[in-house]
Amino acid sequence: MAARRFVSLARINGAGTFEWWDAILSITISILLLIGVVGLKRLLTSKDITIDLLKTLSAHDPLTGCLNRVEISHRLSNEIERARRSQHPVAIFEFDIDHFKHVNDQYGHQVGDEVLIELVKKTKEVLRTNDLLGRIGGEEFLVVLPESNEDQAKEVAMRLCHYIAHTRFVTSAPNPIQITISIGVAHLQPIDRLTIDKNLCAEQIIQLADVAMYAAKNNGRNQVAVSH
Ligand code: GH3
Ligand code: MG
Ligand code: MG
Repeated sequence: MAARRFVSLARINGAGTFEWWDAILSITISILLLIGVVGLKRLLTSKDITIDLLKTLSAHDPLTGCLNRVEISHRLSNEIERARRSQHPVAIFEFDIDHFKHVNDQYGHQVGDEVLIELVKKTKEVLRTNDLLGRIGGEEFLVVLPESNEDQAKEVAMRLCHYIAHTRFVTSAPNPIQITISIGVAHLQPIDRLTIDKNLCAEQIIQLADVAMYAAKNNGRNQVAVSH
């Protein structure tokens, strides 16, 4: 592009005169075009970064940083689709803090928020890197365990339940706080994987986990119940 601007300079040989103004103007235009292209590239790169940031923000819960309800449901649907193709199992569990209202009442909402943040951190310590964690309500969470059957999901859920019950949550409250959680496990039957629509399936399996979780609550809390 810049080379073409030097055509004026070449005329020095043909015509015997050098068109200075033409040459200077051409070079200036070339430099401005170059600056424009570089600027546009930078703008597009920063736009890509902004889009990536917006995507991350729209997929995550602002308080705890885990996935939000819409995103975890979407990811579960994708896992079901994958399970359907590969004939792998998929299991989930839903958990809810027991008597969380007491924590807020006793220590305040701010401390309650800190407990939620800590709970997510501690839950991630128990999960595998491929497992997905999302916040689906105030103090309710959903875990998706790809390629896991009911027994494997139950084992992880029991480990989490035990770990949380034996962990002291350090917050801005004067004393460490102890909480427990109730967990409901559900999994996808091979027949479901073949027949049912993937979005319907995601809703149904979440509903099953929800029912199991309330069974765990009704049985005395701080325990795991499995949907059958
Ligand atoms: P249960 O064992 O039956 O689950 O009892 P619970 O007290 O945990 O359940 P309940 O549904 O009565 O209360 C849930 C509480 O969770 C009430 C609400 O203030 C609190 N909560 C929901 N979202 C948040 C949040 O983002 N931050 C804080 N600090 N509290 C929250
Ligand atoms: Mg609760
Ligand atoms: Mg709840």
